[in-house]
Formats: sequence, C-alpha cells, structure tokens
Amino acid sequence: MDSKQIIVIGGGAAGFFAAINLAEMHHGSEITILEKTNKLLSKVKVSGGGRCNVTHQCLDTSELIKNYPRGSKELKQVFARFSVKDTIEWFEKRGVKLKTERDGRMFPVSNSSETIIDCFMREIKKYNIKINLQEEVLSLQKTSQNKFNLKTTKQSYLAHAVICSIGGHNQIKNYNFIKEAGHAIEEPIPSLFTINIPNNNIKELMGLSVNSATVKVIGKKHQYTGAVLITHWGLSGPAVLKLSAFAAKDFFETDYNCDISVNWSGKLNDEEVKNALSENLNLKSFVINSPLFNFPKRLWDYFLAKAEIPSQKPWNELSKKQINKLSQILTCDIYKMKGKTTFKEEFVSCGGVNLKEIDFKTMQSKIIPNLYFCGEVIDIDGVTGGFNFQSAWSTAWIASQLLV
Ligand SMILES: Cc1cc2nc3c(=O)[nH]c(=O)nc-3n(C[C@H](O)[C@H](O)[C@H](O)COP(=O)(O)OP(=O)(O)OC[C@H]3O[C@@H](n4cnc5c(N)ncnc54)[C@H](O)[C@@H]3O)c2cc1C
Repeated sequence: MDSKQIIVIGGGAAGFFAAINLAEMHHGSEITILEKTNKLLSKVKVSGGGRCNVTHQCLDTSELIKNYPRGSKELKQVFARFSVKDTIEWFEKRGVKLKTERDGRMFPVSNSSETIIDCFMREIKKYNIKINLQEEVLSLQKTSQNKFNLKTTKQSYLAHAVICSIGGHNQIKNYNFIKEAGHAIEEPIPSLFTINIPNNNIKELMGLSVNSATVKVIGKKHQYTGAVLITHWGLSGPAVLKLSAFAAKDFFETDYNCDISVNWSGKLNDEEVKNALSENLNLKSFVINSPLFNFPKRLWDYFLAKAEIPSQKPWNELSKKQINKLSQILTCDIYKMKGKTTFKEEFVSCGGVNLKEIDFKTMQSKIIPNLYFCGEVIDIDGVTGGFNFQSAWSTAWIASQLLV
C-alpha cells in the first residue's frame, strides 16, 4: 500500500483537507496536489469577509442537514462519520481555536482566514505533500494496469488513486474531464443570491429590516421565514438567501423573472392579521402612531400608503375595506422580481457530480474505482453560515480514508 501515487485535483479547501488527512493515514504514499491557478486556498482566504466561517455550531446532524438544499440525505451519513465536533477538534488539535458567534457561525479566534491557511500549510510541509501550481487537469483515464493517466496543461501523471476536488463552477465546461471520464454532471446553476426589484418605491426604504417575514415564489412550494432586509436593489436577508438556495431551480426556470410574495407578519394568515388590526379599532389616535408588530415607522407608513390609508387617520375611523386591504398587504405583498444579485461575492453553485454516482460511505465513484470526490465539485450546496466548508471538510475526510 505504501509509496502509492495519489493525486489530488484542486488546491482548495477540500483538496487540502483530503491531502493532509490522507498523508496522516497513508505514511509513505506520494501525494501531489495539482492546482490550475497560481494561488492556493483562494476561496478560504476571502471567505467570511476574510475571517473564514469554518463551520456552524450545529451539533445535531438532523438539524445540520436542513441547511443543504441539495445533498442533505447523503450528508446525513457523511456527518455521522465526520461531524461539526470533529471539525472543531481537528483544528484545535492543530493549534487553531474556533469561537462561536451569536448566530452559530464559527470562526478562528484570530478572526483571520490566514490562521486556517497557515495551519494547512504547516501540515502540508510536515507531510511533504507536493503542490504543483498552474497545472490544470485536462483528462483522466484508466490504464490497463488499473492506474490513472492524468493529462494536465504541462505533463502526464500516473496515479493509483485520484481525489477530485475542483470545487463548484458556473460553467459546465469546467467539469468536462469528469464528464468525459464517464460521470453525469448536474447543470450548474446559481444559489445564494438576493432579489432585484427594479422600479419599485420599496427601495426608498433601504436599510430597514423585519425580523420575521415569510418569502415565497408565487406558484412554487418553497417558502422561508426569517429576517428580510430592504436594499437599494430589492430584498435580501437570511430568509431571502435561504429561499434563493432552496428554490434555486425554480428561480432558474423563470430566468429570475417571477412574482415574489412577502408575508410581513411572519407566519400569520389573513384572518389572524385582521384580528390583530381589529384590536386597535377603538383607538382615537392616528394609525401611523401605532405600527403593528413593531414595524419600523417608515415601513408602516409605506404599508398604509399602499393600502391607501391616510397616515393621519384615526384607528376608529378605518373602514372594513381598509382593514381588509391592509391585512392583504401585510400577509401577501407581491413584488415583480427581475434579476438577482450575488450575495457578498459569495458565489456558490448548485450542480456538479451527480449524487447517485458516488458511494457516500467512501466518497468513491460508483463508476470509476479509486476515483474519489469531495467538496463543492459534488452536487451539494449549503446555505450561508459555514455549512459549505463543513461539507467540504467532512467529504474530504471520508475520501482521505481511501484504501488502495
Ligand atoms: C467569497 C466567498 C466567500 C465564502 N465564504 C464562505 C464561508 O465563510 N463559509 C463557508 O462555509 N463557505 C464559504 N464560501 C463557500 C466555500 O468557499 C466553498 O464551498 C469551498 O471553498 C469549497 O471548497 P472546494 O475545495 O470544494 O472548492 P474550491 O475552494 O473552489 O477549490 C477548488 C480548487 O480547484 C481548482 N481547480 C478547478 N479545476 C481544476 C482543474 N481542472 N485542475 C486543477 N485544479 C482545478 C480551483 O482553481 C480551486 O483552487 C465562500 C465562497 C466565496 C466565493
């Protein structure tokens, strides 16, 4: 088993994590990382605004997997083998302490992604892992001796096993060599974006947010409740990002032209909101002075204007028709989405190697023995919050346990 040649394709989060754990397991194997650019761990560097949101403090696997629009079923068994707790311990064992923020996101205590990069580079040096930069893998073929012949932009390699961790891409051509080797690729489409609403005066309220609103693509099943932020281009915030990830295919099918409904009350229905409004109907004060559900006053004013209710009208003079209209706006406020905006440059693609073609007990290809996949190259993606790195660490760790 020793002195086997193992090639890791891609010098990103998953490739490094796989190579390091592989070196720990298989002393004596010759491990080489091939990276097409002249930079290593470039996404790790910029991740989490330069702080690297390494994982999310969610120790219950059944809760954790709810954060993955694609791949949650497969990740259940993956996280059972290498969990969030294992991630925390892995880094701590190598001198990197993580801290948890109020929303559950975990970062290095140093608040710098360089800490993660330095840790990886130390391990790479310790195990003598080779790294070849500016070598793009162009093809991957099995030889008659059951080895792999890899062709790159510079040379050819023979390998006993290959770990493919080329990340996610927005163009299918980047997966060509995997496709040509015999794997089906799910078409890459964007995930994690915010909603553009041109020509709508709600944008004048940019910066205002509501803690609990429900967003939905009209006519589709997905809906999410959470904070919604009004921006100068439309709508953003955790509920919108979650919707963009879980309904990525629905949005794609409409070419990002669809109707979005917002229930500003969170989860109340029309009847319940009408009842809440009715509780104020004996007040003599102006409607503007007592916003329902603690809405910011300017937003409340916007809802009143939309319902054609003068803000200086006393509550006890509102007609039934006005109450109905206001309730309808609060529970089913419709906006025309035209286009999307990438969230803080955090491009995450859905799509990649088809889930059915991978054995998630080993991360080995079911089609080509001794070929392993890990990280975003697989048709798995998570919402924002450290979930994408967690699936990269876990799938990479399992791939590193390979036996050749
Ligand atoms: C700006 C930004 C911020 C992010 N912040 C976070 C965060 O804080 N927390 C989080 O969980 N997730 C975050 N993400 C997502 C996270 O970075 C990815 O999920 C993660 O990097 C995936 O790791 P990977 O190793 O699979 O892919 P990558 O990190 O993309 O690495 C793949 C590598 O393979 C190389 N490669 C591609 N094709 C070839 C080829 N043919 N031959 C050789 N090399 C090749 C690429 O150049 C790249 O270096 C962020 C993403 C972005 C863009």
